[in-house]
Amino acid sequence: MTLRLRLLAASAAALALLAPLAHAQSAVSAGPQPLPPEPPIAEPKDAPYPGVLTLVVDATDLDHAIQRVHETVPVSGPGPETLLYPRWLPGNHSPSGPIDKLAGLVITAGGRPLPWRRDPVDVYAFHVDVPAGVNEISVDFQFLSPVSTREGRVVMTPQMLNVEWNAVALYPAGYFSRDVKVDASVILPAGFHAATALEPVSSEGPRIRYKTVNFENLVDSPLIAGKYFRQFDLDPGGPARVSLDVIADRPDELDAKPEQIEAHKALVQQAYRLYGAHHYDHYDFLLSLSDRMGGEGLEHHQSSEDGTTPKYFLDWAGTSAGRDLLAHEYTHSWNGKFRRPADLWTPSFNVPMRDSLLWVYEGQTQYWGYVLAARSGLMTKQQTLDAIALTAATYDHRVGRAWRALEDTTNDPIIAQRRPLSWLSWQRSEDYYSEAQLMWLDADTLIRERTQGKKSLDDFARAFFGVENGSYVVDTYQFDDIVKTLNGVVAYDWAGFLRQRLDGHGPGAPLDGIARGGYRLVYTDKETEYQKSAEQRRKSTDLMYSLGFSINKDGVLSEVLWDGPAFKAGLTEGTQLMAVNGDAYSSEDLKDAVTRAKGGAEPIALLVKDKDEFRTVLIDYHDGLRYPRLERSGAGPAFLDAILAPKP
Ligand SMILES: [Zn+2]
Repeated sequence: MTLRLRLLAASAAALALLAPLAHAQSAVSAGPQPLPPEPPIAEPKDAPYPGVLTLVVDATDLDHAIQRVHETVPVSGPGPETLLYPRWLPGNHSPSGPIDKLAGLVITAGGRPLPWRRDPVDVYAFHVDVPAGVNEISVDFQFLSPVSTREGRVVMTPQMLNVEWNAVALYPAGYFSRDVKVDASVILPAGFHAATALEPVSSEGPRIRYKTVNFENLVDSPLIAGKYFRQFDLDPGGPARVSLDVIADRPDELDAKPEQIEAHKALVQQAYRLYGAHHYDHYDFLLSLSDRMGGEGLEHHQSSEDGTTPKYFLDWAGTSAGRDLLAHEYTHSWNGKFRRPADLWTPSFNVPMRDSLLWVYEGQTQYWGYVLAARSGLMTKQQTLDAIALTAATYDHRVGRAWRALEDTTNDPIIAQRRPLSWLSWQRSEDYYSEAQLMWLDADTLIRERTQGKKSLDDFARAFFGVENGSYVVDTYQFDDIVKTLNGVVAYDWAGFLRQRLDGHGPGAPLDGIARGGYRLVYTDKETEYQKSAEQRRKSTDLMYSLGFSINKDGVLSEVLWDGPAFKAGLTEGTQLMAVNGDAYSSEDLKDAVTRAKGGAEPIALLVKDKDEFRTVLIDYHDGLRYPRLERSGAGPAFLDAILAPKP
């Protein structure tokens, strides 16, 4: 049921409980009475919507970063109609449809304005009364792209744009979104080239019209377009076309070297060798390289939106942090889009999602993202080991597990919607991505150990995701299906294994996979190249495992570790460091001070500015700089080495 109906049902139940008490006190209540209900919003039903919607998005206004929408919606007679703006977005796993960016809504019928009313409980729903004799209504509005990151993700710049159809379309309530057909077009700025998984049927001047699809596929097939564009065929002669479609801020940023393209081609082959099937007719990586358009990683069945640094090709060695992006989003075509948790699948974009199995949907995707990046050569083996070390250290320091189990973090897309948090290590945040990555490494090495290396999590992936080759009809699953498939690989108490890690409270992160993989997590005073790249990407200095904070390029603390040395000295996120032991702050001087204090007795003195107040805090820390890395334990072949090696 929709959120609105659920709320109404809940309040009706509450009134029914209260009624006898009120009656006992007084025959006539003196308090306020509820207003009559708003017109109901029809529940989605699985039946074809009569007629085809047309949708035209004019994306030419780059000056103002506005996408103008004109839509026609066939209607089947007079009476109340409700139009919905998509609210629950797949991939976001949350009610994050950008309704605040919709403006200028005008609905007309036969050229006459039709008054609309927004539902006061479900603000994503618009009610209209269709007059007699009308068989189609017109809808016009604008989607106002953020013009600065303060307002959200910027999706239009002078050089490029991104059309996410959920942001530029209303659709009729009362139907499954797969039952509503749409004929969509886009009008592009002069000289722009577009890429999308939608199939163009015609192009007249700057207007491209796409093959009619259902509303679910439309929302699942966003478009990027840019002034500077290159396309690479990643699987010539393969079973399905796979394209790398790249747009960039500047033409030189498109200069991919042949070996870089080879690694992307290897990603496709390694994914096929892992899963043994694919779930698309064709696939487009929609890669935008920009520091003006907002970054993104959003999966779809036949494409992914991959927005990252403009140095992606130009500084290949220095941008290893985050290079799992394409491997991660590509994996989602199998894990997340094709196989989907039963409670996450919904019949329309306005029915609430439930996120309880995101530790598979995102957690195992995080795992395969790194593994496939290593197997394909997008990342070196060393970079991948260093990335795993950083993940292991980060989650080993998430003391929030004391109160909050891993599975509870699957609610975070709804709770926090990626807003910044004051105490990340205590609150925890979407830990089902990377902590579950460690959990799946644990499972993989356990399978390898119990089968003397004959079986692995690859066998699970093939059995679970590699079925029904070519199909992209969603196949849902529940907890027991995962356990059953794992047991098909090797018999074990998998339910107990998973529940212990999902419900447990530590201490520490699940690191058995690293140990069983032939490595151990150690801390040294030297950063790995990967960690340097991660710091560069975040424009911050990471001292989480020594002083217990990270600090941004302006000297402001961006995170303080709960119960760490800085926490104990009274510091919080947002505090500015002014001086270290009497000298003006610089990140290098701070690191020197940590090194000099090692093994000594003198505390490190920090002059800090907190709002308008200056104060000196003393951090009693003497263990020197500490950075995580993996070190080989024992001799002979290690499972982790086998996991990261290309699959022949
Ligand atoms: Zn993901």
